[in-house]
Amino acid sequence: MKNSCIIIGAGLSGLTAAHELLKNNWEVTILDKGRGVGGRMATRRAGEARFDHGAQYFSTKTPDFKAFTQNFLQASIAKEWHLEEGDKSFSHPRVIGINGMSSIPKFLAEGLNIRTNEKAIGISETENGCKVITETGNSYEANAIICTVPAPQAIELLQKSEISLAEISILENIQYQPCIAVMASLNAPTNIPSPGGISLENSNISWIADNFQKGISPVFSVTIHANPAFSLAHFDDDLNEVGKQLLSEVSYLISAESVESLQVHRWRYSLASERHTDNFLVSASTKFPLIFAGDGFGIGSIEGAFISGKSAAQNLLKI
Ligand SMILES: Cc1cc2nc3c(=O)[nH]c(=O)nc-3n(C[C@H](O)[C@H](O)[C@H](O)COP(=O)(O)OP(=O)(O)OC[C@H]3O[C@@H](n4cnc5c(N)ncnc54)[C@H](O)[C@@H]3O)c2cc1C
Repeated sequence: MKNSCIIIGAGLSGLTAAHELLKNNWEVTILDKGRGVGGRMATRRAGEARFDHGAQYFSTKTPDFKAFTQNFLQASIAKEWHLEEGDKSFSHPRVIGINGMSSIPKFLAEGLNIRTNEKAIGISETENGCKVITETGNSYEANAIICTVPAPQAIELLQKSEISLAEISILENIQYQPCIAVMASLNAPTNIPSPGGISLENSNISWIADNFQKGISPVFSVTIHANPAFSLAHFDDDLNEVGKQLLSEVSYLISAESVESLQVHRWRYSLASERHTDNFLVSASTKFPLIFAGDGFGIGSIEGAFISGKSAAQNLLKI
């Protein structure tokens, strides 16, 4: 029987793992609970306005990830975003998707066997391997599973499954920061200095991006990220009110009169603040290969998700 794997999660780590297995002639099925692919590399529209409301950019530190990124740069899917020289925190180029961050996972997803709107709700052992049951009632069988969902969601999935994980404490120790993201479309430019991205300190806001200056939105629009403490404290509040409060705190950059529409998104899991040092985790409790990966492992963020997904798949090839 051909080697087969179910990958849970079509974010960067899951998509990277899929490509690694496909290169080695594995049969791969990717399941994602979302309507589209990309997970936290997310871009949203409101009318003509476009917003990156999850990840904003990524840097490339390792040679392997630099080489991987070249594929997107050469295919004009991504471009470098040079935040101004002299700004200490942004002294080297960042990479962004040309039409928003979701362009990158969408490009990677082309030709893959991906089932969206399929939330995995149970994993079990079968005679020949393993099975994943989804909320829609579908069932997928394979020889192995790579689970790339944020650790708290992996724990939730395990709790509903007919298997136990001896290494559960490793997943329990992985922690994520929450983030409230505000997206406003505007009828006038902002006062955000070129090239349109600033980090704030001593503020409830950690980051503001001018999506028009960034080049991803054809009309004026901004994304505001509240800092983790503010996001946690206001996570369950009326989101529209929270959005208005955050906008009023930066009225010197974005005039209230210019705001045409407002959307607010709650990310329960944004950046992984406490990570497992290894790039992935292999379950020792199951007869079939079950590997956990994602940005909760290794160096974190987008580059960490890539490294984790790739190394999880390479490990599976060796089992
Ligand atoms: C607000 C915000 C700002 C950020 N800023 C940056 C930044 O500027 N730079 C940077 O490098 N990183 C940033 N990040 C982090 C970055 O987005 C992540 O590190 C990276 O995208 C994680 O990829 P992943 O594949 O590990 O996980 P994800 O992208 O979360 O993918 C996991 C996928 O699993 C799916 N899923 C979950 N549960 C199930 C289930 N039961 N069944 C099926 N599917 C399921 C989800 O729908 C999701 O698509 C930011 C994140 C957020 C939210």
